[in-house]
Amino acid sequence: MRGKTLYVVVPCYNEEEVLPETAKRLGEKLRSLIGSGKIGNQSRILFVNDGSKDRTWELIAELHKQDGLYAGLNLSRNKGHQNALFAGLMYAKERADLAISMDADLQDDIDAVDEMVDKYLEGCDIVYGVRNSRQTDSFFKRFTAEAFYRLMNFFGAQTVFNHADYRLMSRRALQGLAQFKEVNLFLRGLVPLIGYRSDVVYYERHKRFAGESKYPLKKMLSFAVDGITSFSIKPIRMITFLGFLVFATSLVMLLYVLISFFRGAVPGWSSILVSLWALGGLMLLSIGVVGEYIGKIYMEVKARPKYLVEQILDQKPDQDQTDA
Ligand code: UDP
Ligand code: MG
Repeated sequence: MRGKTLYVVVPCYNEEEVLPETAKRLGEKLRSLIGSGKIGNQSRILFVNDGSKDRTWELIAELHKQDGLYAGLNLSRNKGHQNALFAGLMYAKERADLAISMDADLQDDIDAVDEMVDKYLEGCDIVYGVRNSRQTDSFFKRFTAEAFYRLMNFFGAQTVFNHADYRLMSRRALQGLAQFKEVNLFLRGLVPLIGYRSDVVYYERHKRFAGESKYPLKKMLSFAVDGITSFSIKPIRMITFLGFLVFATSLVMLLYVLISFFRGAVPGWSSILVSLWALGGLMLLSIGVVGEYIGKIYMEVKARPKYLVEQILDQKPDQDQTDA
């Protein structure tokens, strides 16, 4: 029987420094999996070039020319990690029986792939890679990242704790994912919504092999806001609650002011000023949160394409010499 076809999807943005090493290690991994008969020889490593400004795409094209094991997808411009990953997965679902997504920087332990494939062969449709610890991340990265997961869950976007986008998905799960039409992508929140049988594989997270993080704090914050506002309306509820609370307080204040008035006291203007600022701030904040949702609706209504593919480098399955 022919083995299952695995596509490893790797989004790349300005990764010329790590790409050769990543390609080498992933190539070895895939070959050993093909050798052991766990996966078929049509399996590929699919690099998605997310509009890199450096030589990333040239390197991918070079790899593909040398070895049909490597495939490439070139996006028309930079669309961000989530969209690039989605583009790769959507392509993979046409060719592969299963796909594994991972970052280009070798932070995710590629040895976890074996266990993921085993779980797939046991019948799982989705296998989440979960970090054991974050010892290798800087304190700041670890602190902000863990706060991120807690914040997400607090605001009602259910995610798998310490799971990034290192995961295996079967073709059936990918077809499910394709039916989610939203433009604002937050894959970690979406994938659990697909359902099917799923499992977890634990791994150690390493330091970035080379180059620097493409997720500075600013991007991470906007990622968190995106995640929360895409999956829950809890912030809006909290505003409603806050409004109710402030209104209740204002009734008490009214009583207090009336009493003070009849007592003939001259009220200090500082208290007025304080409440003025507090209320102004709260209102602006509330309008901002509501605006965040309206902005989302605006983007969704336009339903712009999430990505455009400029070029595909992938051998047709029948171009492979022999079947295992
Ligand atoms: N990435 C991408 N497009 C972007 C930013 C990042 O495709 O606009 C890719 C990047 O090449 C890497 C992955 O997304 O493979 C995760 O990025 P990074 O390692 O910089 O994030 P971190 O691990 O620091 O959170
Ligand atoms: Mg990284």
